[in-house]
Amino acid sequence: MTDLRYEAPATLEAAVALLGGAGGVARVLAGGTDVIVQMETELVEPELVVDIKKIPGLRAIAPENGGFRVGAATPAMEMVEHAGLCRAWPGVIDGVKLIGSIQVKGRATIAGNLCNASPAADSVPPLAAAGAVARVVGPAGRREVEVAKIPVSPGKTSLAKGEIIESIFLPARAKNSGDAYERFTPRTEMDIAVVGVAINLTIDGSGVCVAARVVLGAVAPTIVVSEECAKAIVGTRLDEAALEKLAAAASAACRPIDDKRGTIEFRVKVAGVLARRVALKALERARHIV
Ligand SMILES: Cc1cc2nc3c(=O)[nH]c(=O)nc-3n(C[C@H](O)[C@H](O)[C@H](O)COP(=O)(O)OP(=O)(O)OC[C@H]3O[C@@H](n4cnc5c(N)ncnc54)[C@H](O)[C@@H]3O)c2cc1C
Repeated sequence: MTDLRYEAPATLEAAVALLGGAGGVARVLAGGTDVIVQMETELVEPELVVDIKKIPGLRAIAPENGGFRVGAATPAMEMVEHAGLCRAWPGVIDGVKLIGSIQVKGRATIAGNLCNASPAADSVPPLAAAGAVARVVGPAGRREVEVAKIPVSPGKTSLAKGEIIESIFLPARAKNSGDAYERFTPRTEMDIAVVGVAINLTIDGSGVCVAARVVLGAVAPTIVVSEECAKAIVGTRLDEAALEKLAAAASAACRPIDDKRGTIEFRVKVAGVLARRVALKALERARHIV
């Protein structure tokens, strides 16, 4: 076990300087619900941990341009209890609600869920389907990165040394649009997704789908943003033929692993079943969100 240095800086700039200057393994500590478990099991042995929870402004959900900016240290439970966010992005909240127990959600953050880079992370598919954008701050300044571009492989992100996610922006909800996320797990709670599907879609006045983003989780090394799935439903009223095409496209987009929690065959099949179910739920919400 290496000696551990713990720092809780008061500014983002100081946090970036600490992380950028670290010689060995360094980790941001947000809720700690992944990183502390990994340290306990010696999966990671950082020499430096930088706690970002004491940085003012990082723990807020602020309205912005019709959408919401969620600070990187905001606990998941505060998102679940935020009426405006629940109304605008129910599918994102479907995913956030699934992160562990109430106690885990009292600590866990969506930025941590994203940066842990697990392909099974529950908030990441709906955030990507929503077109959420992460604001990243690092030694070279600030940049905006689509959430879908942050995880690059299991446990790895596209963030450079010293970079931290400061906040995640959820855009304004388009008129007549809705989103939804569902996952399959062997147990009803406190389990890891075997397959997850998020869909965000928009319909026109006559009920025809005019835009869609379909994102699959836990079926490949990273989330899969599937153009083919979107094409299957855009231009349709999500009738049986369109849902059949969507299910086939979702199954075809899977590149899953075979493990004790689900075989490849099972995951491929369930992706199609869930895609259908989630599309109908998003459609129902689109009919009611105006
Ligand atoms: C009992 C239990 C049940 C769980 N169930 C689920 C579940 O059902 N679904 C699910 O998706 N997850 C689940 N998790 C995993 C975990 O709770 C989530 O991934 C959580 O969202 C992680 O957030 P955190 O703030 O605790 O991250 P942390 O543990 O603080 O950090 C996670 C990783 O992200 C990095 N990081 C954190 N914040 C930032 C930032 N702002 N910028 C850059 N890097 C950052 C850290 O360095 C670390 O590598 C569970 C965990 C436990 C302990």
